[in-house]
Amino acid sequence: MKDFAKFSVSEPSFEALTTEYDALLADMDLVVNDPAADPESVPPLLERWDELRRMVDTWANLTEIRFDQDTTNPSFRAALDRRDEISPKITELDAKVQRRLVESCHRAALEEKFGPQAFAIWEMRIRSFDPVIEADLVQESKLTSRYNELLASAKLSFQGEEHNLSGILQFTEDPDRQVRHDALEAMWGWFAENAPALDQIYDDLVKLRHGMALKLGCSGFTELAYRRMARIDYDAADVATYREEVRTHIVPVCRAIRKAQAESLGLEKLMFWDENLFDSAGNPRPQGTYDEQIDAAQKMFNEMNETLGGFFQMMRDKNLMDLQNRPGKAGGGFCTSLADQRVPFIFANFNGTMGDVEVFTHEMGHAYQCYASFAQTLLDYVWPTYESCEIHSMGLEYMCWPHMEKFFGEDAGRFRRIHLIGNLLFLPYGVAVDHFQHLVYERPQATPAERHAMWQEVEKLYLADTDYGDLPHLPTGGRWQQKRHIYMSPFYYIDYTLAQCCAMQFWLKAEVDPKSTLKEYLALCARGGSLPFQELVTSAGLTSPFKPGCLKEVAAQAKEFLGI
Ligand code: ZN
Repeated sequence: MKDFAKFSVSEPSFEALTTEYDALLADMDLVVNDPAADPESVPPLLERWDELRRMVDTWANLTEIRFDQDTTNPSFRAALDRRDEISPKITELDAKVQRRLVESCHRAALEEKFGPQAFAIWEMRIRSFDPVIEADLVQESKLTSRYNELLASAKLSFQGEEHNLSGILQFTEDPDRQVRHDALEAMWGWFAENAPALDQIYDDLVKLRHGMALKLGCSGFTELAYRRMARIDYDAADVATYREEVRTHIVPVCRAIRKAQAESLGLEKLMFWDENLFDSAGNPRPQGTYDEQIDAAQKMFNEMNETLGGFFQMMRDKNLMDLQNRPGKAGGGFCTSLADQRVPFIFANFNGTMGDVEVFTHEMGHAYQCYASFAQTLLDYVWPTYESCEIHSMGLEYMCWPHMEKFFGEDAGRFRRIHLIGNLLFLPYGVAVDHFQHLVYERPQATPAERHAMWQEVEKLYLADTDYGDLPHLPTGGRWQQKRHIYMSPFYYIDYTLAQCCAMQFWLKAEVDPKSTLKEYLALCARGGSLPFQELVTSAGLTSPFKPGCLKEVAAQAKEFLGI
């Protein structure tokens, strides 16, 4: 591919795909369970499968990108709908291949060649599904859509205008305290009004998920959720140890941050509606035009390392970025890949805030990792599992720190400070969301009121200083209802905090020795998803988040850096 703008692939026909998969499965059946067959005859079949998957993956991701680039184009919408319709069927075809490999009598020899990680992941996938829960999965997806639609339907009237739940957020950073308070009052008033519906959806979800877990032979949904997330080398007890680390080492730092924040804003007491305003001068903004910022980024990567510089030049030359906000474009930021071209693609919506630089360096971290991992033996190793993935993105955000003057000039110091503060404050909230879900699924028969009490219980552990004042819904334990992940992607949240714990260790190391730390970081990127989480972490010379003391040094360094 020379230029992404001109790149296209033809839509695969499901019939033709099925024929190819059937042929592949028939060839596999001849060897995978025949002890007399040569184990060396299996890897070429895996290559054939990978080839197929790369093609399908490229089409599926390109269809998504084209739609996100222009959501108003009806033919892009129709293509996306067709993709969503056949994707689950393709997943089923892949599952058939995975089952044969996992159950193969040559598994040991294959693990020797490809590493055990892919087999462990496939096994987790297989054990997360059985036709007996098919109807439950449809129901789960209906319930999560209902939650999504309910939130999307919110119309909040504020200052004489109508806003949705994301539109109103800008006012929570307003320099005027009354504006911040009233915006949150409008927002949480909506949650209070809709609490019965939100409670009902969650109650249905919890009971449904618990039932699915029992059908699959799990003791409860927590066990099934860990399988779904392909958590290979840690369990709920490890995660509990990590939450305790955050409570011991990070919660006190956050308390000091909030105290300093109140002082700098000239407030006697920091209330919930003050929490998003860190600096009375406002958040720093990146300087220059978009083209100047891209040139600055090129300079930054060139100075950091030849490999990174060359990589970014390639991304520019091939047009593998769509970063500017424009009408009709989908929201958010992400990184995806075009596997048969062996390139990543990044998407963002720059809007002139410091978040632009954070999103850019974050997505570039994902992009470089993906690109470096295309040399891995299996497509399954191009992307690591979630908690590992974010180490590369969050890690690069810190690696870029010494170059922030290129984007923020004299404000670079303030940028670094606010960036670090935001990441530290996220940790207690992130583990609270996780702890809450463990409590919920431990007692699936609890009433909605008891669940609100569970949230209050975890707030006491991690967010004890938060004062909601006279705001609606929050003081009675309702804050969790705003967190989409709790409804839509259960237990997927601790991942961000685990990765942040690792990224912060990269920050500590880079402060001492930036060159060799960057080398270790790049080597970790190239390992992709070939190893489970803790093995990846230790391979980069970092301490596993599940080891007591993992955040001790981070906390000390953060306090020193922030002067608190
Ligand atoms: Zn990310």
